[in-house]
Amino acid sequence: MGDVHISAIAGGVGGARFLRGLLAHLAASPDPARRSARVTAVVNTGDDTTMHGLRITPDLDTVMYTLGGAVHEEQGWGRRDESRVVSSELAAYGTGPDWFTLGDRDLGTHVFRTQLLREGLPLSGVVERLCERWLPGGHPAVAPDGPTVRLLPMSDDDVETHVHLADGRTVHFQEWWVRLRASVPATGFTQVGVDGAKPAPGVLDALREADAVLLPPSNPVVSIGTVLGVPGVREALRDGGAPVVGVSPVLGGRVVRGMADACLSAIGVETSALGVAGLYADLLDTWLVDDDADGALHGSTVPGAAPGRGRVLARPLLMSSPQAAADLAGAALDAALATGRRPS
Ligand code: GDP
Ligand code: CA
Repeated sequence: MGDVHISAIAGGVGGARFLRGLLAHLAASPDPARRSARVTAVVNTGDDTTMHGLRITPDLDTVMYTLGGAVHEEQGWGRRDESRVVSSELAAYGTGPDWFTLGDRDLGTHVFRTQLLREGLPLSGVVERLCERWLPGGHPAVAPDGPTVRLLPMSDDDVETHVHLADGRTVHFQEWWVRLRASVPATGFTQVGVDGAKPAPGVLDALREADAVLLPPSNPVVSIGTVLGVPGVREALRDGGAPVVGVSPVLGGRVVRGMADACLSAIGVETSALGVAGLYADLLDTWLVDDDADGALHGSTVPGAAPGRGRVLARPLLMSSPQAAADLAGAALDAALATGRRPS
């Protein structure tokens, strides 16, 4: 067997930590095909926004900084050793928004990204250029001589998640998530631009031709759900032949961190491991639930799964340490490779 090709769909923090675990697992594997694996991460861009004239891509940056060893570890996003000189100058001019953190180091990335976009480079080209610094040769800081990783935006076309609030307003996702901390109930989401968005170059091939497709425990509605909304992506997972393994972001009826439960309520889905699985029922081969909190589901089948697909396995799902994240990613990969590709 040649090098293993693994594709994953990722949002921000949950996706980034899972991917870092995956690369650590691969790098430490006794199996040479895993040690030289090629990982492709298709990243949500629905959270992207423009501030002070700068294009900002939060989930791509979280994944890039995490794999590049530059992330602010406790926070989960942004740069470590960050300072706030520019944003305090902006505040002194009375210009906001004061609720969205723009650190100085991070601003360097946003300035360069915006420059490249203005010069006409598509976002996928911009990501490639930025990753030359953080992932030289595709090698993450976590595994400098081992597996390689490539980040792809889900699309080069702008897609923006807008949130419909119970009080009648519609706001950008960042305003609801960061400014309002999801405190105002939402009644739904619109991914503006998604219907006409084309998958970025390489996205569909990476999903169809992989030996394994992994769905990390990213937000099922506004991260993975947004990527699945790009025309062609869902079909590539459902019909492409690669085994698809998902990891529940919900353990025992609770999200591990963040406010994904507010997103699930907004679309009328129960915050439970099976509630989330239902969103992927048509494309899952295996769904991992937490062995402690949801162990009773082990051996069952995801309701609505395609015949012969959708088995539920219980594993430890808490990424409480880098090693725990590596073990979780290894378990997901084991499940996918044990299933193998479907004949096309
Ligand atoms: P965001 O873009 O930063 O909101 O991050 P993501 O979309 O990637 O993922 C957020 C999701 O990750 C939340 O729904 C959490 O429940 C989930 N999550 C965070 N840490 C863990 C963990 O250790 N284990 C599992 N299973 N899920 C996690
Ligand atoms: Ca996000």
